Amino acid sequence: MESTTSTETVSAGNGASAAPATGEQAFEVRNPATGETIRTLSADSPERVREVVARVRSNQAEWEALGNKGRHRHLARLRDWLIDNYDLVADTMQSETGKVRADAAAEPAFLADLINFYGSRAGKYIGDEKVRPHSALTAGKKLRIQYRPYPVVGIISPWNFPLMLSLGDAIPALQAGAAVVIKPSEFTPLGLIEVVEAWKNEIGGPDVLDCVQGTGETGGALIDEADFIQFTGSDRTGRKVMARAAETLTPVSLELGGKDPMIVLRDANVERAANAAAWGAMANSGQICMSVERIYVEEPVYDEFVAKLTDEVQGLRQGFDGSEYEKDVGAMTSPNQTAIVEEHVSDALSSGARALTGGSRVDGPGDYYEPTVLVDVDHSMKVMRDETFGPVVGVMKVRDEEEAVRLANDTRYGLSGSVFGGKRHAEQVARRVECGAINVNDVLTNYLSPNVPMGGWKESGIGFRHGEYGIKKFCRPESIVISRFAGKREPYWYPYTPQRRKLLRRASNLVNARGLRRFRR
Ligand code: NAD
Repeated sequence: MESTTSTETVSAGNGASAAPATGEQAFEVRNPATGETIRTLSADSPERVREVVARVRSNQAEWEALGNKGRHRHLARLRDWLIDNYDLVADTMQSETGKVRADAAAEPAFLADLINFYGSRAGKYIGDEKVRPHSALTAGKKLRIQYRPYPVVGIISPWNFPLMLSLGDAIPALQAGAAVVIKPSEFTPLGLIEVVEAWKNEIGGPDVLDCVQGTGETGGALIDEADFIQFTGSDRTGRKVMARAAETLTPVSLELGGKDPMIVLRDANVERAANAAAWGAMANSGQICMSVERIYVEEPVYDEFVAKLTDEVQGLRQGFDGSEYEKDVGAMTSPNQTAIVEEHVSDALSSGARALTGGSRVDGPGDYYEPTVLVDVDHSMKVMRDETFGPVVGVMKVRDEEEAVRLANDTRYGLSGSVFGGKRHAEQVARRVECGAINVNDVLTNYLSPNVPMGGWKESGIGFRHGEYGIKKFCRPESIVISRFAGKREPYWYPYTPQRRKLLRRASNLVNARGLRRFRR
């Protein structure tokens, strides 16, 4: 960890330049596992953001001209760098997030896979499309669709997965031919700075990827300058991002919060369900947008499930494990989030809920909250309604699957969820849950299948990442309509004469009318 725990002061700038951080715009990055300041950065001003966007914009045309294969060649070098520097990247991320090693190390592996995924499929997803004219009236035209990238994609990302949720969108955007500027969370900018520096200095990537640093003000400036905004964060900030983008009519894709339900049916493998619930709720200290936040269990298996879940959660080892893979649950990354977790748990406990394990913040050093299982909860409590985003899960007993589905859908969110039960039965129930992705007899794993879309329904977002959606959204379709015949004029051009209009009407009826009566009109 030595490489990232100094108190060196550097400028954020484009993630590479060194200058002292100054005055009000300086902000500190801390290690949440120890509370120590790791580095102090200075926030980028709107002018600086404008300069960075202008610079990468000036290189974008050349990047686009490389074509899918040429762009992948550069991204493949980034993949190799991520694999070769796995421990360096994991060290930095662990120190700025307080994650355990296993949670931190998942990120470079995911990104390497994503680079290969989009590299091998970009031609299929965003290559030129040939389209057949749909009727005889346009048969004389050759139709093509070309997908051209938004020149500069701005990415604004959160602190819970600092690389997966920034580079995870930058990779398809770059593969599509866009230039990318990322504004990472002010809590966790260091891992990304390291990758951007490597892209420039070690990988030799073209100057089409950069990052800017700061809080909401810097994010707002990026919205003003970019041509497309990919935002991941809370629904509260998502609304502000969309409102700001409306001023310049900039399109947005929003990946927001969740309150993901798990349903345990009476024919479930209860042990598997309980182990999955423990992992799905506590992994990354519950700071995953798709964490299992609330569980509905059918009455006949409720007691067994709760006992097994409590047992599993009680056995989790909490703390900071450096590079040793010796702990299961890490720190809370943002102090603001710990306050929300405390508020939800105390609201539930004061309204009659019971904590079977956990229920309190852990004494320092570091910012830890005990893995917590709550029972006797209901939908009047914040912990079952609002996003908790911490190592806390509420479990409710339900009469039958109808009640489970009704409660699962009783939410303003709709990101993902899971159903445990007999295979066919669980799938039938899963299809009724209102969300962007659902796992049957598993949790969270939809995110690891990049060929299926991932995004939120309701207030969990607008747009999707992964699969075809995840790259096409960074492009604008350009329809190319080519005339096959080059006579002096087309029948629908000037001059308008009664005979030609009549002829056109006949031709249109011939093609469109269904039934003789209308054909003769
Ligand atoms: P946040 O909304 O507080 O911040 C996200 C980013 O927006 C940060 O970089 C922040 O600096 C920036 N920002 C803040 N105000 C801004 C403004 N006015 N204009 C532009 N940018 C602004 O979110 P967070 O606390 O960093 O992350 C946690 C949230 O992210 C949770 O709600 C979680 O569910 C959500 N999340 C969603 C997904 C998903 O894929 N749907 C994934 C991970 C996290």
